[in-house]
Amino acid sequence: MKNWAGNIKFQDSKTLAPKSISEIQDIVRTNPKVKARGTAHSFNTIADTKYVALLLDQMPKEIIINKERKSVTVSAALKYGEVAEELHKNGWALHNLASLPHISIAGAIATGTHGSGSNNGNLATAVKSFDVVLADGSFRNIKSSDGDLYYGGVIGLGLVGIVVRVELNIQSTFNLGQSVYLGMQRAKFRDNFDEIMNSGYSVSYVTTWQQEIAGEVWVKFLEGTTPPEVLFGSHGATEKLHLLKNHSPEPCNDQLGIIGPWHLRLPHFKMEFTPSSGTELQSEFFVNRAQASSALLALESIADQISIPLMGSEIRTIASDNFWMSPHYKSNDIGIHFTWKQIPETFEAVKAIETTLKPFQYRPHLGKIYTAAPSYISSAFPKFKNFQELISQIDPNNKFGNEVTDSLFQ
Ligand SMILES: Cc1cc2nc3c(=O)[nH]c(=O)nc-3n(C[C@H](O)[C@H](O)[C@H](O)COP(=O)(O)OP(=O)(O)OC[C@H]3O[C@@H](n4cnc5c(N)ncnc54)[C@H](O)[C@@H]3O)c2cc1C
Repeated sequence: MKNWAGNIKFQDSKTLAPKSISEIQDIVRTNPKVKARGTAHSFNTIADTKYVALLLDQMPKEIIINKERKSVTVSAALKYGEVAEELHKNGWALHNLASLPHISIAGAIATGTHGSGSNNGNLATAVKSFDVVLADGSFRNIKSSDGDLYYGGVIGLGLVGIVVRVELNIQSTFNLGQSVYLGMQRAKFRDNFDEIMNSGYSVSYVTTWQQEIAGEVWVKFLEGTTPPEVLFGSHGATEKLHLLKNHSPEPCNDQLGIIGPWHLRLPHFKMEFTPSSGTELQSEFFVNRAQASSALLALESIADQISIPLMGSEIRTIASDNFWMSPHYKSNDIGIHFTWKQIPETFEAVKAIETTLKPFQYRPHLGKIYTAAPSYISSAFPKFKNFQELISQIDPNNKFGNEVTDSLFQ
């Protein structure tokens, strides 16, 4: 069994697919090490184990909408696309989605997965509470009034326990349109960063970093708001595009300003197609928004060093939150994302980016490719030590750890 990108071959000694919470509790009680896995879209070994892997896709599929609480309680292994469809049918929506709807609820939340939007927190910020089987096999609902367990546990990197259900905040369903503006030079983008990134509900800037090639601005705007006809000199595309050069736009959601429901506009890709290129690696680095312009300028200076493995790059904004292992803990950020070819040169390019962004105290996306030493990661996440203490209290025998998290906790 491999991950989505095919670069990681999982080492499970046993792979189990329990059908009930009590079965999960038995597995957790009787095995020294257990790891839940979602849809295996992470690009590193964060979902790998040499022991028992748990797939929760055989658990009952629950989507329970509670109008009074304005929330939906969903099974952990459901995909965002499945939940979104049901919510929309019933007049409800989530605040945001990632670039793809194919990922599991619990897996995406565990790594701080995000979309774009200057006022939109990552997907974990919708979590009202979650149901989890803890290391001693007990079952617990964790909510904000639980304090540290909630703020440390929501983005839990799979270490808090086996998450079986998540309760997410919902809002009335809404519609958006999407327009792509062509020919946005990076200097113009940098100089007008805030205005451009605030020009819609969710905005991305797409670039290859090459000097001679201008980028594009992808604006997802709310129905009833008027997207600019010309955005700092850039005009709207007249045909549908893919974010990556030389790729068919077929897998992408509608553009050209056509209005449609939130779940068919906020992700770039449609559920029924392979997202992105399908054969790639990804990395992403987060920097506080106040330093966006300087960080982007610094990256431009290494454009040639990263050009061979690079397929494309996307810049997004993410609002701050209070989760300890969130890269956006109390920090309004930009995310600088890279789609890479699966070639050895990618790792050199990642190192060059990390060196360039170190003065900006970057945080890496922990579900993607990074090469930083564990000592860097623990210093870059301000609440890392609190997280480590919390995990050692609730899982003293490290039942849910794996090689990645063990190395981070050294
Ligand atoms: C094509 C593509 C596009 C992407 N786009 C984005 C994007 O727009 N934004 C972004 O931020 N990321 C993006 N990602 C990264 C992706 O969102 C993360 O890697 C996410 O974690 C994937 O969710 P998953 O269900 O596959 O989790 P997995 O990779 O299966 O697992 C991730 C972590 O979650 C834990 N976990 C999973 N299920 C449970 C559970 N039930 N209980 C406890 N822990 C659990 C695992 O143990 C592991 O630690 C993209 C990835 C791909 C392949």
